[in-house]
This record gives sequence, structure tokens and C-alpha cells, in this order.
Amino acid sequence: MKILLVEDEMKLALAIKKGLEMEGYTVDIINDGQKALTRISLHRADYDLVILDLMLPSLDGREITRQSREMGITLPILILTARAETETKVETLLAGADDYLVKPFSFAELAARIRAILRRPVEALPEILSVGDLELNAAERWVKHNGEDVPLTLKEFGLLEYFMRRPNQVVNREDLLSHLWDFNYIGFSNVVDVHVKNLRRKLDTGHGDVVLETVRGIGYRMVA
Ligand code: CA
Repeated sequence: MKILLVEDEMKLALAIKKGLEMEGYTVDIINDGQKALTRISLHRADYDLVILDLMLPSLDGREITRQSREMGITLPILILTARAETETKVETLLAGADDYLVKPFSFAELAARIRAILRRPVEALPEILSVGDLELNAAERWVKHNGEDVPLTLKEFGLLEYFMRRPNQVVNREDLLSHLWDFNYIGFSNVVDVHVKNLRRKLDTGHGDVVLETVRGIGYRMVA
């Protein structure tokens, strides 16, 4: 799961990013309203959720929400607001946001709101996935292979979930990079290969029926 965090208080933004990364999310930070709208309009498919501060330089959160919805973008939006007035909240929701959180909030509250939004039926994805003899529970974050627990790192888990949501489809490295690594990541796409290699090793019990094939020059395909 990848989140776009639009917040101009850098200290708060970095603290939220750090906390969300501990929960297994990948987070991009943008600190300007207009830049955020551009990012959302051009890269909507990269994100699962947008967290928007209401008061931002150049374009406020409500306007970003309104314009995004006008463009037909259905990404869930969670608004962060320093204003507690009920009127503001209602207006915000009417502009198309999915939920709001009043500052100051606890990290636990933010995490709970995010989980709730991402689980809503409209945008929700199944939480229990099963491909061949592999089973993954995205909510409880565990993987079983032939009924046995497979301990995975957060990145490996993210990769496996991505593959299991697309069985028998070719997944290219750039898609994996853009969904599972944030845009400040500086490196080569072989970081994906390294993680896939580790994932393969952990899944290879010698008698499994799921194979992560390399598709030369493109990426990977999970074959069941
Ligand atoms: Ca602000």
C-alpha cells in the first residue's frame, strides 16, 4: 500500500511517514498544494490513499480534493485539519474527502482511520488471498505456505501481496518500484531483483506449486 502525504509542516510529515512505514506502508511526502494536485493527477495509479493537510501553500486541501474529484479521481482522501469547527468538516466531506482527522491526533488514531478507509467496500481489496498453496492475510499480515508460517520482511510481504493480487500476470519492475518504494528512493531497479530473490528463497520449500518466474527484460510473473 502506498500513501501520498501532503503536509507542509515537515517535522510532522516526517513523523507520520516514519510511523506509517513501521506499519508497512510506503509514503511519499509533498509539501505544496499545487504540486500535490499535479502529482495526484499524473500518478493516481501509484497510490492507495492521499492524506491531505487542509492548510497548504499555493492550494488548500479542500480545493485539491474538489479538483481531484472533478478529474474523476476516486483515490480515497483523508483530510488533516487544525480547525475543529463542524462546518469546516462537513464542507470538507462535501468536497469529496472520505474522512478527516482534527489536529492534534495520536498516531494510533491516524492508523485506525487509514485502515478503516482502505477497508471500505467501494475501494476495498480482499484481505485474504490464496494462490496455489500460498495463503496471505493482508490485515493480519501473515503468509502461510502449505499451512506453514513464512516469516517475511515488510518489503517481501509487500512484493508477495502485489504478486498474489495479480496471479499469472506479468508484473514489470517499474510498477513494483513505483508501488513499493517511495519516489525519493535512489538506486537501481535491481533492488527489486534482490528482494524477489530473497522472497523466492523463502517460498522454495521444494514441494510448492507456486513459482515466481522471471520474465526476461520485463519483470516477473507468479505462476500457480
Ligand atoms: Ca499546513
